[in-house]
Amino acid sequence: MSKAINQALQQEVDKRRTFAIISHPDAGKTTLTEKLLLFGGAIRLAGTVKARKASKHATSDWMEIEKQRGISVTSSVMQFDYMGHRINILDTPGHQDFSEDTYRTLTAADSAVMLIDVAKGVEAQTIKLFQVCAKRGIPIFTFINKLDREGRNPFELMEELEQVLGIRSVPMNWPIGTGRDLCGVYDRMKNQVELFQGNDHSTIKVQKVEDYNDSIIREMAGEYLHDQLCQDLELLDVAGDPFDMEKVLKGELTPVFFGSAINNFGVQTFLENFLQLAPKPQPRSSTAGVIEPSDEKFAGYVFKIQANMNPAHRDRIAFMRIVSGKFQRGMSVKHVRAGKDIKLSQPQQFLAQDRDIVEEAYPGDIIGLFDPGIFRIGDSLSQGSEVVFDELPTFSPEIFAKVTVKNALKHKQYQKGIDQLTEEGTIQVFRTVSFEDTILGVVGQLQFEVFEYRMKGEYGVDVQLQRMPYQFARWIIDKDIDASKFRINSTLVTDKKGNYVVLFENEYAMRTAMEKFPNAKFLDTAP
Ligand code: GDP
Repeated sequence: MSKAINQALQQEVDKRRTFAIISHPDAGKTTLTEKLLLFGGAIRLAGTVKARKASKHATSDWMEIEKQRGISVTSSVMQFDYMGHRINILDTPGHQDFSEDTYRTLTAADSAVMLIDVAKGVEAQTIKLFQVCAKRGIPIFTFINKLDREGRNPFELMEELEQVLGIRSVPMNWPIGTGRDLCGVYDRMKNQVELFQGNDHSTIKVQKVEDYNDSIIREMAGEYLHDQLCQDLELLDVAGDPFDMEKVLKGELTPVFFGSAINNFGVQTFLENFLQLAPKPQPRSSTAGVIEPSDEKFAGYVFKIQANMNPAHRDRIAFMRIVSGKFQRGMSVKHVRAGKDIKLSQPQQFLAQDRDIVEEAYPGDIIGLFDPGIFRIGDSLSQGSEVVFDELPTFSPEIFAKVTVKNALKHKQYQKGIDQLTEEGTIQVFRTVSFEDTILGVVGQLQFEVFEYRMKGEYGVDVQLQRMPYQFARWIIDKDIDASKFRINSTLVTDKKGNYVVLFENEYAMRTAMEKFPNAKFLDTAP
């Protein structure tokens, strides 16, 4: 490849940022996303941002569930440009009925924005999503939202980040007053104040100052709030962590921004700082070594498969993260697992509800590939040499149900349905060792409803699901294990590959079993 082409590729890589917003429902993710998109003028939206609330546009019949319950079943991707950057936001469903897909989507991000409600602090779903990001060691940026409301003390929230999530934090800005008294923020990096103007807080005045002691702030915010600000910032200067880029990039230190998404307050500063600090598309490891984004040969992997976006076509869309090289429509690539060459002629992005064909894309971008059933989660596609990216993690299901078919004659369709739906990766299937019952495991309850709905709609099979009391699944590496030992508050099952898995009703049962079999390894995901 000529130097000029390589430089062009590098430029495309350098300007990209691909991230996910992680938060608990109601923290303001939709609001923040909308504000971010407004700064850039969105180019492509995979589903509208408010798709879950704009119920008139259900894109498929099983999304009826989504419509009825007003929640988002699927994750999507949004792309926009801002100040010379191209930004990809990977959306993750905000409702607690999320699925393994949500976790897996995080593997396609190079950084994460953790959104926290100032009054609620770190919540359950944030913890789960954070842990997945932390495991990968990606940088995490924190936005503390709803500063216009009465909330917790900022120091207390920083303490909570450390106590609950185990991450140190460095405030990039600091609120001047909170709740009804909020009049602005002090930007610690740029030494400037950003103040609300007017009663409705609709405009923001930006004022450069010497430092936080500057009397200009006193004039603008009043004596009381300025004293408070000085006290807080002195304490931070002395006792807080200094900003350390290396630690941020390793995910050991999170830069914290305070703001109010709905008032568009602090959002622009956040975005600009984020673009500067967040990493560009990162390499991924593979059987052929580390694949750099600037490697001239195209390579990518499928991290998510979504069925039936369009009810008129029973097709699926495979979402691919581009790792290296330039993608061009119509190019031939090797589908490594299948061992054949395929032509990528129908790559799609989704502009609201209309499918939009992508002509070219670069590392960090996500494209949807038309999938007539040839892709599986984790599949690698590459140009030239064979590249197999590291396997995507699987996640331990937390909710289980026994499944039975109402009409035994439909067994074949039932099996086909189970196979396809497990391939999409939102349900896991287990078989009990004792009775050969089929047990489904999911991360979010909604997946059961989606399963029932799709089994009927797409495969014509009525299934019955019976909730089981299990809460944990642990893969055990010990072929001589005695199944009869797992009776009380637990049961022994096998997964699709024949691995032994024990389902436990509670932590106590799990601990007891571990004590009973000190030599067996209990893993929380498939080996
Ligand atoms: P999501 O579930 O995380 O996507 O949250 P939404 O963006 O739908 O927001 C949840 C609620 O919080 C909505 O009623 C928003 O209007 C509200 N909200 C979002 N940002 C702010 C904010 O900065 N201040 C206040 N007071 N409310 C906000």
